[in-house]
Amino acid sequence: MFIAFEGGEGSGKTTQSRLIAIWLRDQGFDVVQTREPGSTKVGMRLRAILLDSAHHGLSARSEALLYAADRAEHVEKVIRPALQRGAMVISDRYVDSSLAYQGAGRELEPQDVAKVNSWATGGLTPDLTVLIDVPPSTGLARLASPADRIEAEPMEFHERVRREFRALAAADPDRYLVVDGLQSQEEISRAVQDRVREILPD
Ligand code: C5P
Ligand code: MG
Repeated sequence: MFIAFEGGEGSGKTTQSRLIAIWLRDQGFDVVQTREPGSTKVGMRLRAILLDSAHHGLSARSEALLYAADRAEHVEKVIRPALQRGAMVISDRYVDSSLAYQGAGRELEPQDVAKVNSWATGGLTPDLTVLIDVPPSTGLARLASPADRIEAEPMEFHERVRREFRALAAADPDRYLVVDGLQSQEEISRAVQDRVREILPD
């Protein structure tokens, strides 16, 4: 089973993916908790390039291709092998981040971003995608660390990203759970557990 967490900056994806991984492990499941970008050797180098504010002028197409390259590596080296041995995979971000950030955020043609990513992943789609929805101003205010390349984008950029995530979720309610990220950590994790319980193997 493959679960992805999506959402804007400071939405709490990392916290919630950790909490659900713990919850699943407590029930005896083999769980692989992973994230994008940067979960492979090459991916770590791609992450460094992608987040470095020195690469401020990186072209939108290069950005989309580097994220897709990171993802291809992630799928082939981490996600597919884990799924093949029967593990549960929890990923902090996946393809929908590229549709939201590179598609809507960078205003690339959404179909192009979708096509590149479908090729990069061999069409691997999560069984469940959890969108933790927060207003960008709230999410950005939660970040303690100095702004990386994307966090430094203007508010309209983050608003487009949020709108796209919500549109993706609305278009595919069977695959998506949308949770209000302004709730407490406990409330959010309970909502996620309730949904995951429904799709757990017996
Ligand atoms: O999830 P995390 O905050 O670690 O992501 C690192 C940075 O990469 C974030 O600033 C995020 O906005 C950005 N990102 C992106 N496009 C993606 C995935 C992540 O711009 N497809
Ligand atoms: Mg994070």
